[in-house]
Amino acid sequence: MSIRTIRMLPVSSRTQKRADRLKYNDRHWLRMRRDFLATYPFCIVCLVQGEYTVATVADHIERHADDRDLFFDFENLQPLCKRCHDVEKQSHERRGGTGETWLRLLREIMMEKHTENFVGSMEEWLPIGIADALI
Ligand SMILES: [Zn+2]
Repeated sequence: MSIRTIRMLPVSSRTQKRADRLKYNDRHWLRMRRDFLATYPFCIVCLVQGEYTVATVADHIERHADDRDLFFDFENLQPLCKRCHDVEKQSHERRGGTGETWLRLLREIMMEKHTENFVGSMEEWLPIGIADALI
């Protein structure tokens, strides 16, 4: 294999993962994550079902895919508990779901559980992007 061929090889997924990890250790991100979870302490998926669960994940509603603007967009964040992140959100993304279909899903859950009034009165716990989609 010539040097030229080696240079043309695609970036390995391993290198890609390393780049992602760096970002999640970014001081700006850690501060933003802390402020976000302090402002919106309850998991949004649990909340639309009428339950208060402490959120530990500041999740990107729309996948950031290494887009810096999406990554650092406060309005692109939602509070999730670990279970809802690992089960609900990740399976939604694996099925090709987008931020828009995710918000639709939250609304469907809310309608199904008849928690509109409950969620409506919880406006202070709903991040801007979520409140607009639900109320
Ligand atoms: Zn949850």
